[in-house]
Order: sequence, then C-alpha cells, then structure tokens
Amino acid sequence: MVKLAWTILNSKDELWVKVMQGKYFHHREGRITGMKKSFHSSLWRGILKAYPLMQKATVWSIRDGQTTEFWNHPWIDHDTILEEHCLRTLTDDEKLTSVADMVNEQGEWDWTKLNSLLPNVWLSRIAGMETPKHGLGEDTTIWGLEQDGRFRLKSAYLLAANEIDMMDDQGWKELWKWSGPSRVKHFLWLVMHNRLLTNHERTIRKLTNDGSCKACNDGLEPIKHILRNCKKTEGVRHFFRIGQYVHDTRNFKQWMMENLNDAEKGFEFGIMCWMIWKQRNEETLDGKKFSETGLISKIVSWIRVYQQAKINEERSILSPRNQLISTPITWRPPRENWVQIQTDGSVLQSSGKAVAGGLIRDHLGRCLDAFICNLGNCTITIAKLKGAEIGLQRAWDKGHRKVELNLDSMTTISIMKNNKDTDHRYGLIAARIGTLLDFEWDVKFL
Ligand SMILES: [Zn+2]
Repeated sequence: MVKLAWTILNSKDELWVKVMQGKYFHHREGRITGMKKSFHSSLWRGILKAYPLMQKATVWSIRDGQTTEFWNHPWIDHDTILEEHCLRTLTDDEKLTSVADMVNEQGEWDWTKLNSLLPNVWLSRIAGMETPKHGLGEDTTIWGLEQDGRFRLKSAYLLAANEIDMMDDQGWKELWKWSGPSRVKHFLWLVMHNRLLTNHERTIRKLTNDGSCKACNDGLEPIKHILRNCKKTEGVRHFFRIGQYVHDTRNFKQWMMENLNDAEKGFEFGIMCWMIWKQRNEETLDGKKFSETGLISKIVSWIRVYQQAKINEERSILSPRNQLISTPITWRPPRENWVQIQTDGSVLQSSGKAVAGGLIRDHLGRCLDAFICNLGNCTITIAKLKGAEIGLQRAWDKGHRKVELNLDSMTTISIMKNNKDTDHRYGLIAARIGTLLDFEWDVKFL
C-alpha cells in the first residue's frame, strides 16, 4: 500500500494514476492538496493508511516550488512541518501557499511576508535553502529512508511494520499497572510511542546515513528489532522465557503489552527491555562490547537489588505485627551456604535451533555464574537436560558442594532421577547426569 501511494504521488503520467488522482484527491491548480474521504474500497482505505506513513519518510526536493506546500510539506528536513512553528493561525487559503509563493519578483525569499510568520530560528533555516526557480522542473519527493532517495519496499515495510504497531494506542494505559520503577516505566512509554532515537530513527531525521543494527549488522534497527528480533540478544530473551514470535500474528505493541502484563514474568520483562536498551546505547555510542551472559547477570542482579530494596521499604512502613507474610519475590533464594542452579532449555522459533542456559545464585540472590549454549538441532527435552548438565558441571567446577537444582520441568526431573532405566533417547545424557549426581556433594531437586 505504501508503494501504491508512492506511485500515485509520483507517476503523474500513468493513466490509472490520473484517474485515481482526479477521483479521490482534492486538487488546486494541479496539485494534490488532500484526499477525499468518501470512497470506501479496500484499495482506498489502504492508501489512506499508507499515506501518512509514506509522508513520514518523504522529503520534498524543491525545483520550481509549485507543488510543494510551504506550510504542510516537509521540505526543509524530514520531520519539519513549518505550520507547527507558525507564529499565528493560518487561514485555509494561506495553508495552501506553495514554496514558490514565498519568493519575491527578484527570485529571493520574500522576507516581508516571512518575518511576521516564523521565529528567527526557522527564518535562518529558510535563508540557507536554495530558492525555487522556474525552468528547473517540478518538485519531487525523495524517499528519506534510503541514501539515494529511491523508494524501496524493504525500508517502507520496516517503517510500516513499526508504525502500524504504534498507531493503535488502545490499552497502553495498562502500562501503568506495571509494577516496576518509574524511570523504567517512562522508558517503556517511549518504546510504545516510538520516541527512542534508534539508528533507524536517526536516518529518518538525517542524523546518520547508517540505520543498521551495530550489534548484529543485520538490517535496519527500529526499536522492535532491538527488543524483540536482534540476534545478539536472542539468548537474553530466551533466558527470561520471552519468545520472539517471528511467525506470530501479534504486532510488536501487543507483544510488549502481553509480556508486561504477564503475572509471572512481566516485571522481569520490563527490566530486561530497559537494560537491553541501555546496553545497546553503551555499545553504539561508547563502543563498549557486551556478552549475553554478562547482560543476563546484570539484569538478574539489578532485579535482586530492586526487590530487596522494595522489601526493606515495605518492612519499614509496616509495623512488625503487620509484616507481610508473602513477599513479592517470584524466585526463592536457596538456604544459607547453599547455591541454587536454575536452568532451562528451549528451541527457538526463529531458527529451530536449541539453546540451553542457566544461572547460579547464592542465598543473597547474587548471581555467581550465568551461561548460555547453542546446541544445534535437538529436542526441547534434550535441551533442558543439557542445561541441567552444564549447570551441575559448572557448579561442581566452581567448588559448590551444597546445591539446589531448580528446573521447573517435571519431565526433566523424572528423567534425571530415574537415570538408570530411562527412555533410550535420553540414555546417554541421563547417564552423564547420573555420574555428576553421584559426586561427593548435596544436590536437592526443587
Ligand atoms: Zn541487531
């Protein structure tokens, strides 16, 4: 649809385009000045939807200045609409002024008109622009998402996918139910309103020519790439049990809201998004490299510190008699002098590849170790078993001798406990885990 709207705006010679223009667009002296709202074909509705998107990525390039609207088209830069800066309310007629109308007979900007309409900062920007000239041909629009200004479906699609997500604003108030700190909530609000300065946004605003993701060097970098699709942080999402939903029909915003509202993992999800973004800034702007395991342990420690602070706060507010019986901790730390290994495994929807990961924490909740391994192609049960095996091996190697094993999977536990006569598919790995469990140490299943 974006492509179609683009064609209508730019291919004036094609007959069907002329028909569409004549029928469905408002005209003034041959210029499209708006669109009629009376027509209801799905084609038209699609154009109506695509048109604002397309405009968002369009810059008008001035030649004779006849077609470009001085007040309503972005012609100075991509996101500048001069009407927004006008010092007084414009009449309907004035709104249709073309760029050429603002040039005097000597071919210079008409400052007598402009001085009273715009603040100095914009007057000096205009002074720096070439004036339109007769004979240079018609004004054109440049596709602002590509360096050469040519329309490409890929960048349009990425823009549209991101925008349509953001346009539907229903339910975002639910964000305020989210229980995390307000600065993170503020960040999440910016995500929902597409206000973060990603590289992708920087290219739209002409701050850079390179809109690609620095972490994975893959494609454009809108916010949903950073939080949901970036390969570099796939293991982090996986660790917090957040799927990518590559083939899911939910849009990015729904994906965000459903995860944030998830009673079990919503809090961790919000913190995770925030810290992925912070990490990405350190990497993009300061050149700091990061590892997934480093990021995971950072997130986990942050959550622990925050939850501890919250408990302390609640304790200090409540009198001893009214102390909370249950704390808001979703994760229960191990007993003193014990460590807890929490592991999991899953098969990523995006690639079909299996991953195992885990954490080792002490009784204060401190993260002592974190790991993620790519396993190639295997079943989810094998992945979970593999996660447990790696976790146990690492705990043993680090000298822990009192260990709680938190697997959150009855199947895995039962295979491990009955490792002597288990299903032949798991025989080998179950035997290896059995050997580990027989070492001189205390291992408790949770
Ligand atoms: Zn990436």
